[in-house]
Amino acid sequence: MPRPLPDLTHQALRRIRPLAFETNASFIERLAGAHHLTTSELLGGLRIHPPKVHPVQGGDYGPHARSELYLNAGARARISQYTSIPDAHLTHALPCWKDHRDRGSAAETRPGGAMRPSSLPAVIGCPHCTVARTGQAQPVPRYLPHHHLVCTRHRTWALGPHTLNGVPVPHTHALLHKTPEIVRAHHAHLRLTRRWGPDADDAVAQAAHLTERWRRRAPKSERIWPDRAHLIGSENASMWEALAREAITYPETITLAGLLVRRPSTRYHQTRPGQSHPLHTTIARLLNRRWLQNPAHYPEDLARYIQYAPRHPTNDTAYRHHTKPTSREGHTVELTQLGYQPPRPPTNNQ
Ligand SMILES: [Zn+2]
Repeated sequence: MPRPLPDLTHQALRRIRPLAFETNASFIERLAGAHHLTTSELLGGLRIHPPKVHPVQGGDYGPHARSELYLNAGARARISQYTSIPDAHLTHALPCWKDHRDRGSAAETRPGGAMRPSSLPAVIGCPHCTVARTGQAQPVPRYLPHHHLVCTRHRTWALGPHTLNGVPVPHTHALLHKTPEIVRAHHAHLRLTRRWGPDADDAVAQAAHLTERWRRRAPKSERIWPDRAHLIGSENASMWEALAREAITYPETITLAGLLVRRPSTRYHQTRPGQSHPLHTTIARLLNRRWLQNPAHYPEDLARYIQYAPRHPTNDTAYRHHTKPTSREGHTVELTQLGYQPPRPPTNNQ
């Protein structure tokens, strides 16, 4: 028998602090958990109408849940009132707090909301930092921007959701203890972002696109990326090369982004047939890979997307929510489509 709904409208709720970039669904679930309630019991107890549920196609995967709880103005005002957390504070911490399609002010709408597929991809925040901040081991999904995927204190890289033959892969983080160059690249990324703002995001997204292309088509002589995969996931390096691919190519991505953000010349008139293009030579030297002098490794539209990359106005809110380049991949990434071939199970000959 379902337990009767508590009436929470005569008491103040415990103040559960939202983590920066946390999903609404996670924050409300933690708030409910602090009162030993489920999300729907908490909402019911605050006389918030049960949210309409729009299921996620392909299922919701464990800690990487892709459903987001969008509360309307009335429901948001009620949460703010009973937790005594100002709405401005919730808006600042939770990127999707105000993303409900409101049809009126808080006073005009019956408190309610909707559960629907999230419009942004979420990752799981550093587990050690989460325990330190919340006192709980429960994973906290967050819309971390690309330049926040690394926790330098605990040397973790937040991975997005992955599947293998359609089955969720249970890894949420890569460990960077043996790859200090990835942590150094993170500091360089932050400097790039501080100096160039949203242009740095574009450059990093373009560079990540290129390095991923190169990682997948690299000649056998390329050892740095496979070796890094081995340092991150020694037991199954080939799987980790696909799973943590963004981390594995990250030092080269950030170095290359530092070049691209300055919009290097891509003009071809300086080149004769059979001669390397100056930009390819520069990149090969910068990344210390001779094989990158070969024009075959470059997309035909390289010039176009260096010269005509979109430029964003410096708008703090839009910028804060930028999650390139992970956002381009959609939500769940299938490992076999990234070229990972799982080993065959041993056959039983008897
Ligand atoms: Zn941490």
